[in-house]
Amino acid sequence: MNLYLFNTMSGKKELFEPINANDIKLYVCGPTTYQIPHIGNFRTFIVFDTLVRLLQSIYSKVTYVRNVTNIDDKIIIEAQKHEISIENLTHNVYVKFRDECNQLNLLTPDHEPHATDYISQMIEHIEEMIKNKYAYVSDEEVLFDTSKCSKYLALAPHERLDFGNRVEINKNKKNFADFVLWKKTTKPNWQSPWGHGRPGWHIECTTMSKNLLSFPFDIHGGGQDLIFPHHTNERAQCYALHNIECAKYWMHNHFITIDKSKMSKSIGNVMYLSNLTKKYSAMSIKLAILMTHYRHPLNWKNEKIQEAQNIYDKWIRIKSKYHSNALKIDIENEKSKFEVISSVYEALLDDLNTSLAVQCLHRAIQNCKNEYQWQKIENSLSLLGIKLEAPSHKIDEKAVKKLIEKRDEARKIKDFATADSIRKQLKLMNIEIDDTKDGTKWKVKC
Ligand code: AMP
Ligand code: ZN
Repeated sequence: MNLYLFNTMSGKKELFEPINANDIKLYVCGPTTYQIPHIGNFRTFIVFDTLVRLLQSIYSKVTYVRNVTNIDDKIIIEAQKHEISIENLTHNVYVKFRDECNQLNLLTPDHEPHATDYISQMIEHIEEMIKNKYAYVSDEEVLFDTSKCSKYLALAPHERLDFGNRVEINKNKKNFADFVLWKKTTKPNWQSPWGHGRPGWHIECTTMSKNLLSFPFDIHGGGQDLIFPHHTNERAQCYALHNIECAKYWMHNHFITIDKSKMSKSIGNVMYLSNLTKKYSAMSIKLAILMTHYRHPLNWKNEKIQEAQNIYDKWIRIKSKYHSNALKIDIENEKSKFEVISSVYEALLDDLNTSLAVQCLHRAIQNCKNEYQWQKIENSLSLLGIKLEAPSHKIDEKAVKKLIEKRDEARKIKDFATADSIRKQLKLMNIEIDDTKDGTKWKVKC
């Protein structure tokens, strides 16, 4: 079984050849907990959740790390704005984030390190980089010297190191692209050999990935805005510490956009799961995201979610014909027992083509003939992390019964026009009726 993944480093789809097939190691940059993640952020977490599920179906052990960035400038500003402590702010956001991950049926990573639990290790790494002459101390910070890294832009060869990109301008820098490892501040502050301060964002991820996975690990992932500077700088830091690549494969998903602009908190065009679930089910929102390949932009439109919701509801109606919940799927422990639809699996093995996988799944569901086929469908759904739950629009039994009574009365007095219009109304509610000698029977239509 061959898995192909697009590696940002080579710019090509490559055969995935693990460093150690007995333990696949993957690190994904997680949320910055200053505000609840928007649906664009969740695209990243959904994409890599699907990848982890696929890897788990192939390999006996997968170690999945997704960090929590719980200290940075945006967090400090947001905490000040709301006059609460950084700890309370980041904890509250994290709790809500976890709840939304559950609603989206995302796997709990094996490790979810919080940056502030690794400050002493970060300090050790910075000391080592200074010793290796990759870092220098200025009046206000410790900076990484990018000129020491010969292939600094290997991951982002098209990036220009001049004004106008996302590099911070700072008079203490020796080179334009140099970045902060330690910032001297009074609030919040941790003790360090360079005075009180706090770490830079890039050293946080390098330290957490090194501690939990060690270098090199198999896959490093995140949204494509992280290619430069965040992942480029993580790579440079690993060279400064060990003179090796930190990851063998780099994977980046494209954005969710609104009218072609990236969905982002700074632009203010964000959509949140909590709002969307007032109208659509969380699973259909996830399905809408999976219906676009992760390397393509996903222009967010209500019609797209409605389309996914309609497909999802249809799947639920078809599911009600089968009773195959008896077989529960546990990919991790008993994967060999379970068969998935081969076209779905092949699509996923080809650089996680969830878009094609959903199309294949839809076809299989529509053509499903028996329990055995349905079980394969359930296994394939599980591979995508989609749970078929009760329809989002619950059937209001009281209302259905009332309408049936009204229709019966109309029929008794031969008011067939009213009876007919009630039948149509019930049909719109997806209710099928059958006039038997024992009265009118009804059921939810498949
Ligand atoms: P943040 O919480 O800002 O650190 O972002 C968490 C993850 O979401 C990162 O991997 C980002 O690259 C990703 N991300 C941010 N905005 C979007 C977007 N509009 N679409 C897809 N991914 C995004
Ligand atoms: Zn990161």
